[in-house]
Amino acid sequence: MRRVDLALLSPLLAIGAWIAIQAHDVHASAAVRQSAAALDEPISAHARATPVTFASSLERRVLRNRPATGDAATIGPEVKRSREPAPMRDIDEIHRRLMQNEAGTYINDILLARDSNVARWPDRTSRPLRVWIQSASTLADWNPAYANQVRDAFSTWVAAGAPVPFTFVVDSSAADVHVTWVDHFEEQISGKTMWARDDNWWIVDANIAIALHHNHGEPLDASAVRAIALHEIGHLLGLDHCVDTTNIMTARVRVRDLSDADKATMRLIYALPPGSVKEAR
Ligand SMILES: [Zn+2]
Repeated sequence: MRRVDLALLSPLLAIGAWIAIQAHDVHASAAVRQSAAALDEPISAHARATPVTFASSLERRVLRNRPATGDAATIGPEVKRSREPAPMRDIDEIHRRLMQNEAGTYINDILLARDSNVARWPDRTSRPLRVWIQSASTLADWNPAYANQVRDAFSTWVAAGAPVPFTFVVDSSAADVHVTWVDHFEEQISGKTMWARDDNWWIVDANIAIALHHNHGEPLDASAVRAIALHEIGHLLGLDHCVDTTNIMTARVRVRDLSDADKATMRLIYALPPGSVKEAR
C-alpha cells in the first residue's frame, strides 16, 4: 500500500468506528427511535435501521421523475462532554425571537425532529472551525475539483450569514471537522454528517462523508457533490430536514443551492441559545 493510501485510511477507519458506536447508541435510546419515526419521510428500511447520522440523497435532474431514492432521517447525535459554558437562556426572549422570525423559515420542521431543541455551535468568531477536506483519493471517479466544490459550499453558508467561521487545514490531526470521500453508501444516500452535542445542545463535533457514486453505481457529478456538501454542511451547522423540497435541506435533495428559507432558518437558529424552546432549564 502506498503511503498516500495509509494516510487516507486512518480518518476513514475513525469514521467507521464512530458510526459503529453511534449504531450502538441508537439502539440503547428509545427517545432517539421515537424521534426517527416522527420525522421520517418514506425512506428505505435500511436507512431507518441506521438513523444515527444525517444523510442525503441527490438525484440527477434527468432522474427527477423516477421514484426518489430515499434518504435517511436526522437523528439525535452522540452526547459528549464539553467545556463550553452553559448558554444564557431567557425563555420569554426565545419565544419572542421565534415568533418574530419564524416566517419564511422551516424552524418548526427542525423543532419537531429534535423534540423542540435547537442544536448549534457556540459563538466562535475568534476560533474558526478547522476543516480538513480529503484532497486525494484513489476511489474511482474522484476528481480533485470536488474538494473545491466542498470549500465553495462552506463559503456559501458563511456568505449566507453563518456566524461559524471556517478555516481549511492540511493536517487532518489538527482539524475539528473532517470531510472524506466514499465510493458509495450501502444505503440509498449520498452523504452523511456525523455529529455530537453536549448536554446543553452545543454542537461539539462533526464529520462529513460524501459519496462519489449513487447507491446504484452511477457517478455523482461536480454540481451534485456541491449540493450534497451544502446539505451536509447545513446539518453540520445544526439544521435538520424540512418538508419543502425547494430547500437544500429537504430529505431528498432536488435543488443545487441554498434557498432563502435555508438561509433564514440558519440565521434564526444562531439567534437562539441551544437547547429546548419549550421551557427554561
Ligand atoms: Zn440530510
